[in-house]
Order: sequence, then C-alpha cells, then structure tokens
Amino acid sequence: MIDELLNPWIRDLVPYSSARSEFSGSAEIFLDANESWEGESPEINRYPDPFCRTLRMEIERAMGFPFNMTAIGNGSDEIIDLLIRMFACPGKDCIMVERPTYGTYSVFASVSGVDVVDVPLTASLDLDIDAMLSAIREKKPKIVFICSPNNPTGRVYPLSSILRVADANPGITVVDEAYADFADGFSSAVSAIEDNPRIAVLRTLSKAFGAAGARLGILISSPEVQKVFMKAKPPYNVPFPSQQAGIDALRNIGRVRERIKETRDRRTDLASFLSALPYTMEVFPSEANFMLFRVPDAAGLYSYLLDRGIVVRNRSSEPMLENTIRITIGSEEEMAKLKEALSEWNY
Ligand SMILES: *Cc1c(COP(=O)(O)O)cnc(C)c1O
Repeated sequence: MIDELLNPWIRDLVPYSSARSEFSGSAEIFLDANESWEGESPEINRYPDPFCRTLRMEIERAMGFPFNMTAIGNGSDEIIDLLIRMFACPGKDCIMVERPTYGTYSVFASVSGVDVVDVPLTASLDLDIDAMLSAIREKKPKIVFICSPNNPTGRVYPLSSILRVADANPGITVVDEAYADFADGFSSAVSAIEDNPRIAVLRTLSKAFGAAGARLGILISSPEVQKVFMKAKPPYNVPFPSQQAGIDALRNIGRVRERIKETRDRRTDLASFLSALPYTMEVFPSEANFMLFRVPDAAGLYSYLLDRGIVVRNRSSEPMLENTIRITIGSEEEMAKLKEALSEWNY
C-alpha cells in the first residue's frame, strides 16, 4: 500500500550500503570504513551508528515508542524534507498544509519543486475538516501535514478530527507532535499507526528534551515507511556527539519531566499576566512551550522588546494572526525580565 504511494525512483532505489551497516556482530578491529585510527576526542574518529540503536532504545524506554517503529533524523526538518522527497513528484504532486502553521513543510516542498495546497484554519483556529476533506478529494495531496499542538497557535486538535482526515486521505498523513510533551492529557496519533500505516508521527528532542543543538528528530511510523526512510536517508545523518547528547537527555528523564512542569507553570502564569495587561487584545490558550497574544501594534512591541534586549517572534504576517506576538517560555529570571519590560511598554 505504501509502495504505490512512493515516487517510482524511490521504490526502485538501491540504497547505499555503508561499511557500518553491512557489518553486524561484534569485533575488536575495524578496518572497514577508512576512518582514522586516532581522533582528538574519544570515538570521534569513528563513523556514527547509522541506525542510532542506543538512542532508539533509550527513546523506547523513556518515551514508550517501540524500537522498530522509530528512526532518527537530523532534526525533524530532515525527516520532513525526506518524506516529501520520498512521496511527492516535483512538478506534478502537491502536499497540503493548514494555515497558519509551522513554515518548514511548505519551504521544503518548494525546494523540491512540489506544490503546496493551503487550507485555512477556521476562525477559531481549529482544523476545518470539511475544507480539508474536499481539498484532499480535489487536489489529491501526496502528504497532508497536521501540526498538533500547532505552532504558532498552541492549539491541540482532537485526535478524532486528525484521524478522520488521515483515514479519508489516500496519501500519507504526517502528524507533527513536536510540542506534545507540554500538552495536558495528550492523545498521540502513534496509537493509530497500526490500523493506518499511512500515518507518520514526528517528535523531536529539540523542545521539551532540551537538545535543539543536537538536531534530533524522531520519525514514528509503520515498518513499510521505516524501510523506505532508511533507504532514502543519508547513511550517517546523525553525528555521534548528537546521538550521545540525546542519550544523555533521555537518561535524565526525571529532570526533563521537572522542566516540563516548570515550563507549564510559567505558561499558566504568563497567560494570566498577559491577560491582565491593559493593551492585550487576545491571549490564545496554549498547550505548548510558548504563548501567542494580540496587541494593537505587534511591530512596535517587537522592536520595543528588542531595545530591551528581548527577542520574541512577530507572527503578524500569518493569516488570521494580525498583530500577534509569540513568546517562548524561558527561565524564571527571563520571564521576570520579560514581564517587567511588558508592563513598562508605552503603547
Ligand atoms: C520546533 C519544531 C520542530 C522541531 O524541529 P527540529 O528540526 O526537530 O528541531 C518540529 N515541528 C514544529 C512544528 C516545530 O515548531
């Protein structure tokens, strides 16, 4: 079923067979990959594990995603790019995204010469299921991207809505759950993959796990999708120090959980602080590690905060988000300085 959706050249691809993927078992002396016999720090002279096995074992242990259903990308970004290149034919196929949402889906599609069909969210920033279903029938996108919790709105879509779309979609549905760890009582689409192998879920260690610099994205998918992803990805896509940084973060899951709780508490606090500001026009309820709010002059607030040494994100260019600012939840000290600056703005 997945085979029929693939680009034909991907279906027929003979993958590169790296030295480290041909060898299995144990050995003492590795003279198979033309590496240096010495490096400046331990193990850096060796190519990294193409399968990220230890990292994926830790992911299974800490996050519960079965080892056989996971693959690691150089950030979710690499996974998004590869999925588009696996399934969508340049100059012919399209992908579908809701707007407003995370921008990279469309950018990677454009880089690949793949068209993008935008379906606006409803006025209340929910999925417009009917519009999505009719766009799927009409435009036949190879991939439908759904981001939940959505960036930049912070909104979680009901799993039942996501699955209605995924089940009606003959193509691939990618559910980007980058911010799931911050959401209350979150229902992941991972549970639906067994029944619908066209669903692929994205997670990342860049947000709650505090490892954005290591570039570690997780693809959770059916064995059929996993198999093709492993053929199409660069053999050594995740550097050894990054794999190690991810392993360290996952082994420290206790601290990760504490940090998630602190982040959520600060999010609640920031939401009420923003609501009480005299100039705030709207605060968007968020299940992620950021808050979006509307002010009379977002560009003015943005540059005022910049003058005070604080960088936020002006999201005003997005449809339906005129005059909105997105603020990431930071440390206690950072939030205190932000609040001080916000309360002193002469709007
Ligand atoms: C931050 C973010 C990611 C993470 O991307 P990485 O490449 O894994 O750092 C993925 N999706 C969304 C919607 C994001 O906001």
